Amino acid sequence: MQNLPEINHCSPNLKAYWCASCKAHNTFDIKRGGSGNNTTWTYHCKACRFSMFNPTDVSPWKKGFFIFTVLAFLIAIPLGFICLVKGDTNSNSFGLSLCLAGFGAFAGWIAWMMHKYMREWNLWHSAQRRKSPEILARDSREHPFQPEYDSSGDFTAWAEQFLAPEEVAQLHGKYGRGMFIPTDQ
Ligand SMILES: [Zn+2]
Repeated sequence: MQNLPEINHCSPNLKAYWCASCKAHNTFDIKRGGSGNNTTWTYHCKACRFSMFNPTDVSPWKKGFFIFTVLAFLIAIPLGFICLVKGDTNSNSFGLSLCLAGFGAFAGWIAWMMHKYMREWNLWHSAQRRKSPEILARDSREHPFQPEYDSSGDFTAWAEQFLAPEEVAQLHGKYGRGMFIPTDQ
């Protein structure tokens, strides 16, 4: 099937998962990891398998990782410096300062990666937002990847980012003769 006219995957939607590699809200496969309270879901682009992200979800995480990095270094640097001045490099305090610096650096790397992808999103978002609905429809038709209908729960989750549940049910009725697996999230 070529192009689902009901959903434009090239029209920016802050609450929809986006592929930074394909520059579109492509359809995805949802992978579940962990269990219980630690269950995580990752969304893999159907076109390139890249891990997709939801711009609304990423912003607070990016801020959180950045704040953690700043706080970790604010504690680690003076603490490590005091230990070095005292020649106390075998103490627990020096070990703690190294640990904090390590965690801070890791959190900083994650914050930087999030910043990089959010920047790509922002550039794409502002460019697409300036386009007319007609141009956006053309972008969608001409995009190298075309979302295809399927009856899976992953497809339903993707469609529900753009349409109300009853509109998604209509989509299933139109393309899938009403056969579909509801989302379990
Ligand atoms: Zn992709």
